[in-house]
Amino acid sequence: MACELNRVKFRTVAPFYTSTTCPKCGYSDRMNRNLEIFRCLKCSHEDNADLNASLNILLRFITGPYGACCKPDEVMEFNFGKIS
Ligand SMILES: [Zn+2]
Repeated sequence: MACELNRVKFRTVAPFYTSTTCPKCGYSDRMNRNLEIFRCLKCSHEDNADLNASLNILLRFITGPYGACCKPDEVMEFNFGKIS
């Protein structure tokens, strides 16, 4: 694989519900997404839908088996810019 030749690690995460799940409170609902806009029906978190999905992918990666050293609370604060 090309990335391994360049010493870049390649990992995958399960993509299910990443576009309809709120990265702030974890609530998942198809109605959270309306075309380009993500708006959580539970906590009112709002963001660009694609950016929101990418945050969920990052969260799954960091809190998954390859990022187990991080605590979920720290990840959430990092995602919302509270930790520099
Ligand atoms: Zn929410």
